[in-house]
Amino acid sequence: MDEFGLIKAFFSRHSPGGNVSLSVGDDAAVVSVAADAELVMTMDTLVAGRHFPEDLPAEQIGWRSLAVNLSDLAAMGADPSWCLLSLSLPDLDQDWLSAFAEGFFSLAEQYQVRLVGGDTVRGPLSVTVQASGQVPAGGALRRQGARPGDRICLGGRPGRAAAGLQQWQDGVRSGELVEAFCKPQPQLALGRKLRPVASACIDVSDGVLVDLLHILDASGGLGADLDLVVLEQDPVLAGVPTEQRLQWQLSGGDDYLLLFTVPAVFNLPHGCVELGRVSARPGLRGRDGEGQIRTLAPAGFNHFPTGD
Ligand code: ADP
Ligand code: MG
Repeated sequence: MDEFGLIKAFFSRHSPGGNVSLSVGDDAAVVSVAADAELVMTMDTLVAGRHFPEDLPAEQIGWRSLAVNLSDLAAMGADPSWCLLSLSLPDLDQDWLSAFAEGFFSLAEQYQVRLVGGDTVRGPLSVTVQASGQVPAGGALRRQGARPGDRICLGGRPGRAAAGLQQWQDGVRSGELVEAFCKPQPQLALGRKLRPVASACIDVSDGVLVDLLHILDASGGLGADLDLVVLEQDPVLAGVPTEQRLQWQLSGGDDYLLLFTVPAVFNLPHGCVELGRVSARPGLRGRDGEGQIRTLAPAGFNHFPTGD
C-alpha cells in the first residue's frame, strides 16, 4: 500500500448529503454554505507526547483529534459541517490507521461531519484537523460579551480529564476518569442551546481559570467571584485531597467543557454547574467551605510561557 492507497482505504468515506459537491480525491474540496449562514473555522494540531501520551491507542487519537476541533465549534455555537485531516505518520501501519479511522469516523458520524480532504506525509506522529461549521449570520458566540452580574457556568464537572491523565500515567487503562481524558465529548448540543442566550463562551482546553480569564479579559478586564464549595460535590472525585482536587478542577486542562456566562435569569440546561458571578472588580476570587475568600492564581497549560 502507498500514500494514495492509504487515503483511499482509510479516509475516502463518502457519505451522502452535507452540501458536499466534491470530496476526498480531487485537488481540493467543494462545498456549499447555507445562504443566511456564516462559516466558522477552526484548526488544532495534536503532537504525540505533547498533546496525548505516546502510548494512547490510535482509536482514541482519532477521536480526540476531531473532538478538540468540534469543541471549538461548540464554543462558537456553530453546527459542524466539514473537516480536513492532515496526518504526519512515522510509517504506514495499517492496524494503526484502521483503529485511528475507527475513532475519527465514529465521532464524525455521530455529528454528521464530512471529512472532505486532507494531507498525508511521513514524519513524527502528529495530527492536524481543520473543522468548519455554520451559524446563522451574526449569531456566533464569542469570548467577548460577559457583563458584571452574569452567572459563570460550566457544561459539566471539571477536573476529571486531568485526574484521568494522572491515572493513565499511573498505568490505569479504564474507568470514568480515564474515559474523560481519552474520549472528550464536544458539547455541540449545549453550544447550540446557548447561542441565543450566553453573553460569552469558551471551551475549557487549558484549565477553567485560564480559560475564564480569556473571557474576562476579552470582555473588558472584568473579574470573577467563584464558589469553590460547588466543586466539592463531584462524586467521581470524592476522596481526592482538597488541594489536588482543586488543582485538577481549576487548572487541569483537557476537559473540553463549555465555560460560559449567562444573564441572571436563565434556566441552566441539565448537567451544567454554576460556578460564580462575573464582577466589575478585576481578579479571580474563590470562597471556600469555611467562608474564607482566597485569591486564585490562574495556572494552566501554555506552550510558550513568558520567560521560555
Ligand atoms: P495534492 O498533491 O493535490 O495536494 P494529495 O495527494 O495530497 O493531493 O491528496 C489527494 C486527495 O486526498 C486530496 O483530495 C486530499 O484532500 C485527500 N487527502 C490526502 N490525505 C488525506 C487524509 N489524511 N484524509 C483525508 N483526505 C486526504
Ligand atoms: Mg493536487
